[in-house]
Amino acid sequence: MPIRGVLFDIDDTLFDSGSEADSLLAYLRMRGLLDRFGGGAAAVRLWREVRERHYGRFLSGEISFASQQRERARDFLVRLGASAGAGLSDRECSAWFAGYQAHRHTTRTPFPDAESALKKLAPDFRLGVVSNSSVDHQRRKLDAIGLRSYFGDRLICSDQHGAAKPEASIFLAGCASLGLRPHETAYVGDDYETDAVGARRAGLHGFWLDRVNDGVAAAVDADIRVIQSLNELQAALAALDSESQPER
Ligand SMILES: [Mg+2]
Repeated sequence: MPIRGVLFDIDDTLFDSGSEADSLLAYLRMRGLLDRFGGGAAAVRLWREVRERHYGRFLSGEISFASQQRERARDFLVRLGASAGAGLSDRECSAWFAGYQAHRHTTRTPFPDAESALKKLAPDFRLGVVSNSSVDHQRRKLDAIGLRSYFGDRLICSDQHGAAKPEASIFLAGCASLGLRPHETAYVGDDYETDAVGARRAGLHGFWLDRVNDGVAAAVDADIRVIQSLNELQAALAALDSESQPER
């Protein structure tokens, strides 16, 4: 059975979140907060640490998408020094985050290989997205980076779906949005366990986008396909199709 659809992760797969560091540093500089850190790298490290913690709480259903944004701001500001953040109200924390996000929106970019890959695949495959995030947030992001038209409303996000990757149900919801069965569908993402292995376990074809080439060949399951750029995807899908044809 040939592959007829491809589902994508967004962050660090289509969308280059590397620009996050630049927008954070610009925002901290503007707010006069950058000199509280030993250097830009320390600020970025702390920001990622608090994101990990509170985004995890959102993904597990403990707090809402808006709350994780507010709590990231609060935690970050508190760690700058108790006086800077401990007494901040919810409203102040949300406003701080909104200011950061406004900076972020001006620097949003897709990876250079994203649009060319989608353009090549669009005539032959149904395309969609499965993301651990809020659907409104990701819709706006795809609009901002100019890729939304490839997916239309085939956009499944964990907040709306009620479970996050690597749970099988969210991948299956993605397949359903394409009107395809799992074995007719490929999933492409940058996180080996959450994306590629999760998709494989749900019965899809798992593709790991290893942009930084940190994969150790021995550690990758034989049934996970590895690509280093989205430019390789079309050929990798064709190769997988020809392998799965029965011997004549
Ligand atoms: Mg990702």
